Amino acid sequence: MLKDQDRIFTNLYGMHERTLAGAKARGHWDGTAGIIAKGRDWIVDEMKASGLRGRGGAGFPTGLKWSFMPKESDGRPAYLVINADESEPGTCKDREIMRHDPHTLIEGALIASFAMGAHSSYIYIRGEYIREREALQAAIDEAYDAGLLGKNAAGSGWDFDLFLHHGAGAYICGEETALIESLEGKKGMPRMKPPFPAMAGLYGAPSTVNNVESIAVVPTILRRGADWFASFGRPNNAGTKLFAISGHVNNPCVVEEAMSIPFEELIEKHCGGIRGGWDNLLAVIPGGSSVPVVRGENMRDAIMDFDYLQKDLKSGLGTAAVIVMDKSTDIVKAIWRLSKFYKHESCGQCTPCREGTGWMMRVMDRLVRGEAEIEEIDMLFDVTKQVEGHTICALGDAAAWPIQGLIRNFRDEIEDRIKAQKSGRMAAE
Ligand code: SF4
Repeated sequence: MLKDQDRIFTNLYGMHERTLAGAKARGHWDGTAGIIAKGRDWIVDEMKASGLRGRGGAGFPTGLKWSFMPKESDGRPAYLVINADESEPGTCKDREIMRHDPHTLIEGALIASFAMGAHSSYIYIRGEYIREREALQAAIDEAYDAGLLGKNAAGSGWDFDLFLHHGAGAYICGEETALIESLEGKKGMPRMKPPFPAMAGLYGAPSTVNNVESIAVVPTILRRGADWFASFGRPNNAGTKLFAISGHVNNPCVVEEAMSIPFEELIEKHCGGIRGGWDNLLAVIPGGSSVPVVRGENMRDAIMDFDYLQKDLKSGLGTAAVIVMDKSTDIVKAIWRLSKFYKHESCGQCTPCREGTGWMMRVMDRLVRGEAEIEEIDMLFDVTKQVEGHTICALGDAAAWPIQGLIRNFRDEIEDRIKAQKSGRMAAE
């Protein structure tokens, strides 16, 4: 189990002061100017060496992403945009940072912006996060008053402004280019890539979009060293990570743990076990609602990191939002509910997603009741393949994967239901 002294987020549960004084007492804002004095290249190299992979779901190496930003300005400004949209069902980790430990994010924003030549950064927070926005804005105001933001931020010689922008509650605005569109005051619709944001992002200027957790861990990594961070987890899956476990465990929680922790240990140590015991475990969605569902018996020995979940279980770590379902769950209906969500949240600009999400949801709707033909299961799978990878943004994949996971892992359940319906057993039940 991760030792307390190795935890980056020391106020995840709001047990201590979230004020600047409280944050400083816990070691934040310590030697910030000194870190910046080491220079842009040093920071980017150290982030690369730490092995940090983006915590927003895609797992792209953070240091590498930063290195895509132009070294010299061509006259345009550069921007860091922080994605605090956190709208993926099951995902609730960034809000704990913002409401209880906001200074980790603010200090990280300053350092990361400096490393990318940005004098301004925007945090885009989801519409429903009202208390979180208030807590974060109060912390930003405090930081300005203390000279940690603004001209010569934290005495570093770098001028830096941080703006908090409140979204209106659309899931698609968590997609980085839709988020940029929304920040610019337009409808949140994803852009075609290329150009990538590092070339032409916010207001047509070089921009990097990073997740809240990815930025909030930066100051501690740089203070304690890349080697320290890289010492947790398996190779290529370094660091500590916030896991958000919900559903049928005895104590659902958000907890910071070492990457690559075994699933069983995570559940036993922090969640008080599965409701009704391990034999009662039906299924797990290990990384937020868009990754494929996994059968319970295959999860017991799982290692919670990017590579294991993707390669060994054909699922993903995603945002590490672990949704646990016991045998009381109607798994077909659970996945249908996700289909309904993605259909509702599709922005509608590309055909496979606009039409496909509705089509998939309607078939799922019938599968829940067993009112379908067995052959339709394969047809549905085919349609998910036609949506996956054929859309402008990843929402198409996000809508396809849960259904693929269901068919791969619970085909018997779907078939049984269809047979029961045909034989009249279903009506009797
Ligand atoms: Fe919009 Fe869906 Fe296309 Fe993404 S995949 S751009 S959400 S229609």
